[in-house]
Amino acid sequence: MKVRPHITQNEDLLFEMSSPGKKGYQLPALDVPDVDPLAALGAANVRAEIDGFPEVSEVEVIRHFTRLSTWNYAIDLGLYPLGSCTMKYNPRVNELVARLDGLAWAHPYQPESLSQGAMKIIVQLEDALAEITGMDAVTIEPAAGAHGELTGILLIRALLEKRGNPRKKILIPDSAHGTNPATAAIAGYEVENIRSNEAGGIDLEVLASAMNKDVAGLMVTNPNTLGVFEESIVKAAAIVHAKGGLVFMDGANMNALVGIARPGDFGVDVMHINLHKTFSTPHGGGGPGGGPVAVKKILEPFLPAPRIRRVGKNLKFDYKRPRSIGKVRAFYGNFGVMVRALAYILAHGGEGLRNATVDAVLNANYIRKKLEPYFDLPYKAPNMHEVVFSDDRQAKLGVRTGDIAKRLIDYGFHPYTVSFPLIVHGALMIEPTETESLREIDVFVDSMIAIAKEIETDPQLVLTAPHTTRTSKVDEVTAARKPVVRWRPVAGV
Ligand SMILES: *Cc1c(COP(=O)(O)O)cnc(C)c1O
Repeated sequence: MKVRPHITQNEDLLFEMSSPGKKGYQLPALDVPDVDPLAALGAANVRAEIDGFPEVSEVEVIRHFTRLSTWNYAIDLGLYPLGSCTMKYNPRVNELVARLDGLAWAHPYQPESLSQGAMKIIVQLEDALAEITGMDAVTIEPAAGAHGELTGILLIRALLEKRGNPRKKILIPDSAHGTNPATAAIAGYEVENIRSNEAGGIDLEVLASAMNKDVAGLMVTNPNTLGVFEESIVKAAAIVHAKGGLVFMDGANMNALVGIARPGDFGVDVMHINLHKTFSTPHGGGGPGGGPVAVKKILEPFLPAPRIRRVGKNLKFDYKRPRSIGKVRAFYGNFGVMVRALAYILAHGGEGLRNATVDAVLNANYIRKKLEPYFDLPYKAPNMHEVVFSDDRQAKLGVRTGDIAKRLIDYGFHPYTVSFPLIVHGALMIEPTETESLREIDVFVDSMIAIAKEIETDPQLVLTAPHTTRTSKVDEVTAARKPVVRWRPVAGV
């Protein structure tokens, strides 16, 4: 018999645990006539048996999936320094609130008279986000960041169309997130890349020469993907506005600004916010998110329907919006995410939100100072909530950012973001967020320094990492193109 440790990372497949006749349920004897389902329902309505479908007990299913869940790395296990993703801790009180019966069971088809509380949550969240961003109106409909970007660009398109010409191009700095050009293309625009200057910011001269009457607007991430605040944003916005364009801000990095600076005050016309980043909703794995879009007054008439209006004492859904770009999401968006975001905002209050921002920036700068002696820092401008090193020094010894990231797994951390942004060669993009204690950050910093030293003495150790996981380094291209999801024993594990 195969001997297996009690808790093991070598979990058998459910198919291998199967034993004929085992069931996860037991039903009482029928108290109605026993009929043949095929005869009663017809073959079209009866599911065929699945060949080799595993037959296991309830406890076997529970244990199998619980064991599998322990193979994941999670923010509840430790620092998750994935740059650009803002992997912060999600306070449990948000979950508690989202699970309250009246909220968790609210149904979108329930009459308005029974939905007043849920509608009030939406309105309160919109108002809070308008205040935080310095904008005039907010829609909470979009389901995620990229979806918010698309909504925002469609709003720009709708306004320009009403003015007589939707224009052809969107300008995007080369430090942008990859979703930005994709968004512009899907909204029917050509993308023109704007080269960054040496400090990693928008080059105003390049912007001015690119800006003309064919350009619908500028799409700018601020702080940008280098973690650097666009110091010339007011001038950049003026250049775009002078030629009749609009400024869209990718606000996924709002964790560096909340309570400190408001995009509405520095020339932005429309922006999106990632609730699942900045406002502490669990994310990763493609789960529900929130990508609200905040706009200035000129874009308000085009916001997705419905809007919530106050009529007397009651809130009402207003679908009569002739200039609206329409709906971008079924019903009103991901309501559970809104509840969590509002709970987070109200629990923190203005002062608390501001402190979170300050701590996020402090943590990133602490890591920068501690690691600067060991890793190359190509852009020296003051950084905010994240810091981007390059692997230049390690690459000379044959070790690249991806190898360092894999070795970091052996030290018990999730890797940082590898090879992004593209303007940094061999990027190591690190974002600690405000969640982390000095103790946790010091363990991370010590791990990174230890790896830098290993590369000098024993690069092979790093090149062959990870050594502590059930699967070591995989051929990533083949793994992506021809995934083998069946587990095979790894020698020595
Ligand atoms: C995460 C991110 C996005 C995309 O957000 P999703 O919710 O993943 O669609 C866009 N821009 C930036 C800068 C981001 O960090």
